[in-house]
Amino acid sequence: MAQTRSLTPDGARADAHIAVDNPATGAVVGHVADASAQDVEQAVARARQAQPGWAELSARSRAEFFTRGRRWLLTHRQEIIDSIVAENGKTQEDAIVEIVYGVSAFAHWAKRARHYLADTKIRSLSPFVLGRSMYTRRVPLGVVGVIGPWNNPLINSFGDAIPALAAGNAVVLKPSEYTPLTALLMEKMTRECGWPKDVFQVVTGAGATGQALVDTADFVMFTGSTKTGRAVAARAGERLVPCSLELGGKDALIVLADASLERAVNVTLHGALCNGGQMCTSVERVYVEEPVYDAFVARLRRRFEEVTSGRSAGLGSTDVGAMTFPPQMSIVEDHVKDAVGRGARVLVGGHTAPGPGRFFEPTLLVDVDHTMTCMREETFGPTLPVMKVANAEEAVRLVNDSTYGLQASIISSNMKRARHLAERLEAGCVTINDAQTNYMAFGLPMGGWKESGLGVRHGAEGIRKYTRLQAVSVNRFPTRRDLHMLPFDPSAYRSILRLVDLMYGNRLRRRGK
Ligand code: NAD
Repeated sequence: MAQTRSLTPDGARADAHIAVDNPATGAVVGHVADASAQDVEQAVARARQAQPGWAELSARSRAEFFTRGRRWLLTHRQEIIDSIVAENGKTQEDAIVEIVYGVSAFAHWAKRARHYLADTKIRSLSPFVLGRSMYTRRVPLGVVGVIGPWNNPLINSFGDAIPALAAGNAVVLKPSEYTPLTALLMEKMTRECGWPKDVFQVVTGAGATGQALVDTADFVMFTGSTKTGRAVAARAGERLVPCSLELGGKDALIVLADASLERAVNVTLHGALCNGGQMCTSVERVYVEEPVYDAFVARLRRRFEEVTSGRSAGLGSTDVGAMTFPPQMSIVEDHVKDAVGRGARVLVGGHTAPGPGRFFEPTLLVDVDHTMTCMREETFGPTLPVMKVANAEEAVRLVNDSTYGLQASIISSNMKRARHLAERLEAGCVTINDAQTNYMAFGLPMGGWKESGLGVRHGAEGIRKYTRLQAVSVNRFPTRRDLHMLPFDPSAYRSILRLVDLMYGNRLRRRGK
């Protein structure tokens, strides 16, 4: 990504734009506008105009637009896959996962939004509200600003816009400046599918554009690093607008001695290397119980040696794609160097791969411990440190010895023991005998604890967050006055006390409390 800016005589940026490169080849594959704060304000203003009409549509009508979108994604799948691969450098297989996510997300929110957002009847036994009918209703917030990272140009950007739209909001999406092209394709999709104008817009640009969106939106859905997430939360806090943060992780996997080693190796390999290890849910550290450590490492080493990495030129051409974000190359390299400097051994890989393009060799590290950066900080690359532990207790302690808490996995054949241990892990998502499959279950909330985030995506909470709650109380049969009303009537308060005694006191006396 390179920025070129030209200024008008009054100093405003006229045609500032960003060049997007293909991380697997180094070739420039497109240019996008570097939107100014004023551009963002205007987009949000247009969205604000469009939103009430969108909110007035029935959920069924909005679902109809989603159905058109779903069909568009399927008919244009090759164009979308090519766009994702070109701007992100991932494999075609990893890009197909994004298409499947988009299609199923449209289907899920089209079908379930109405149910998740339905009015809820409230009952109360308070003597002060007897006879009232009460319920809560969900009201869209207005304009939702979605800000996305570069590792999944469709999933973590447009994917989060779908439930926001389903809840009746307009959305302004600011994709990563490294991967903005697929988001623009989604804008094209809404035009070609006849969606109401300005209900979904994309503003492209770097951090300042994102900041301008945080300054104007009614809700911020942010996915990215913990560092930027803090800045977004601070600004949202100043403005007193809600935000949801999906941040970094240092996801751990525990292999128990009773695990099927073949399954353990497959889950670990895929969890660590899919998408080039550039997933918030990537397996970034493994703890193996001592009795199976040697056998597990021997098998995993063979599998790491078999994995290929390089530019994806069609299905089956390569396993691990490019490193999308240029500075990530030196972060990954530093983590490996730091580990080796502190006594770790590199069993496979360990170096940047020759160009063209940005590639890091799939790397397996052993003899690691928690003094090493690779065990404590997010690496976000195709490297994996594996550590021997005396027992599951030590593994649980080490998994929880982290500032992050996004996802953790346990591989075991003893479900009772695995569940019991899983419940002690400090992570928002826990999987047993799997690593990342939970992300595809739209009914299951996904979000991080500790410095991995605030709030969740998916599930009921993943759409309700895009609404304000209104509590309604209706006195359908109003009497002339209530028991508790000025001027006070002593007999009314004697009645209230008798009523409370009847409702709560007698029962307590019967139980001898
Ligand atoms: P990043 O924080 O650098 O950037 C994310 C987005 O924020 C980009 O669009 C960027 O332009 C924008 N931005 C930058 N400064 C901003 C500011 N001050 N205000 C508003 N927006 C601003 O993150 P990244 O490098 O693009 O993404 C990688 C990170 O994302 C990793 O840490 C990864 O774990 C995380 N991630 C988390 C999840 C999750 O679900 N928890 C999913 C994918 C990625």
